[in-house]
Amino acid sequence: MTVKVVSRPELTFWEKLYIPQILLGLKITSTHFFRNLFLHMLHFVGRFKHLPASVTVQYPEELRPLMSRFRSRHRLTLREDKTPRCVGCMLCETVCPAKCITIVPGEHPDPHVEKYPIRFDIDLGVCVYCGYCVEACPEDAIRMDTGILDIAAYSREAMKLDIHELMDPKLRKPIKNCSLKFPHQCNLTDGEVKGTWEEVNETPLVEKT
Ligand code: SF4
Ligand code: SF4
Repeated sequence: MTVKVVSRPELTFWEKLYIPQILLGLKITSTHFFRNLFLHMLHFVGRFKHLPASVTVQYPEELRPLMSRFRSRHRLTLREDKTPRCVGCMLCETVCPAKCITIVPGEHPDPHVEKYPIRFDIDLGVCVYCGYCVEACPEDAIRMDTGILDIAAYSREAMKLDIHELMDPKLRKPIKNCSLKFPHQCNLTDGEVKGTWEEVNETPLVEKT
């Protein structure tokens, strides 16, 4: 391997003073400010609309439109009967380079569907948003098209999305009531998810912190 040595350029006398550099920075900022101000005034009176001017997006109240291929927070897609399309094939978990997907598959009562996910977690604190899980899925069961960008949380645990948050992207922890219309078992027994194919009842099923 060839190593190319690049010598650090010496600062000139004026650069060492810093003040000219500060003035240069102010000049650049002011140029942008007055250019945009001037262009916005011209746009206001209907002139020079072909010349773009910078605008400030008032995030998070205002969101910039996202491109259709933009990879945002994950979601699990649903069948018509609101059950997850996922068949628990584990391809996404296998292909994930960050190893941040955890799936526990269970036997599906429908003989035409082999399995379904009893548990499906994605640790967004570890995910690198490569999109491989979406590419690998043979069932179009996982997508990254929610448009949700604000995934910050106060704890590492809260960065882990469970199946509730993945099936309904509006949900965030702590989840107190499970209203998902798919037969599943939310209860944890001895720290293990015991999945059975049950009708969802109306009682609160899960509480996680
Ligand atoms: S986007 Fe990449 S890193 Fe994130 S869960 Fe999918 S495969 Fe793993
Ligand atoms: S989301 Fe897709 S790839 Fe992942 S386990 Fe389910 S069916 Fe398989």
